[in-house]
Amino acid sequence: MDPAKTARGETRVRSQVKAWLQYGEELGLGPYYRDRRALEPDAAIPELAKHATNNEMFAPDVNANISSSRGLEDQNLMPPRKILKESAAALISPAHAETLFGEQRIEGDTLPLIRDFIGDCTRCKLSKGRTKIVFGTGSPKAQLMFVGEGPGRDEDLSGEPFVGRAGKLLTDMIKAMGLQREDVYIANIVKCRPPDNRQPEHDEVAACSPFLMRQIDVIQPKVICTLGNTPTQTLMQTTQGISRFRGEWFEFRNAKLMPTYHPAYLLRNPAAKADVWKDLQKVMAVLGLQAPKKR
Ligand code: URA
Repeated sequence: MDPAKTARGETRVRSQVKAWLQYGEELGLGPYYRDRRALEPDAAIPELAKHATNNEMFAPDVNANISSSRGLEDQNLMPPRKILKESAAALISPAHAETLFGEQRIEGDTLPLIRDFIGDCTRCKLSKGRTKIVFGTGSPKAQLMFVGEGPGRDEDLSGEPFVGRAGKLLTDMIKAMGLQREDVYIANIVKCRPPDNRQPEHDEVAACSPFLMRQIDVIQPKVICTLGNTPTQTLMQTTQGISRFRGEWFEFRNAKLMPTYHPAYLLRNPAAKADVWKDLQKVMAVLGLQAPKKR
């Protein structure tokens, strides 16, 4: 064996391992997925929300002021990039190596094909405790897609995402935007309920999120709204908390990505609804939606 060749091979392997370790580090593998703090924004939230009041919740009164940012290049293999100039960009540390998803779009893919492909899935340990796979619901042509963390008890039993208390609040949010649930598409990062509603672990996210990527590619929404830490961190490939990102535009697989708080968080912290309403108004501006008139 040529010693120079061996040395070059070793160097290459070393740098690959280093890149993967860095990638894991940047994804925060381990501590991030070990407990379900996903619904909890970081400590800055109470400060952000302290001026909000309950009756501001999703009230259709403020004109959103956002910059237009169509004409996105095809970056669908890359982690999201920030669109607006100000604020969070400097705080984001997207993974430098390959993305968690990476793969190409599948020509001719459809939602039924994806569902068939998932089958009676046993690809990860969440399958052991689930009742039903919660694939996702809504319009396959939706311009707006909401992505949550994973099914809870009600969703596990019914097979539909966001049908419990948090789901009812999400439905109210959708209606406040002048839409019905059937107009949007709703899905989660993982399709089976984590035991005791814990946060999905990395292997579970890795096993399941490719299906979500296929759903996104089929639906091609104009806007994806991630609800809470887990979907935001997963799509943005960061370990930073949602309050760094919420209310800002990013791009993801040819869609505009708007992270906002999870409805379950809003149930515990109603004051934060005012922030979410601001975020939803930005989404409405992009989609040309008007809030329904108050009766
Ligand atoms: N929370 C989620 O993140 N997803 C659901 O489907 C229900 C609750």
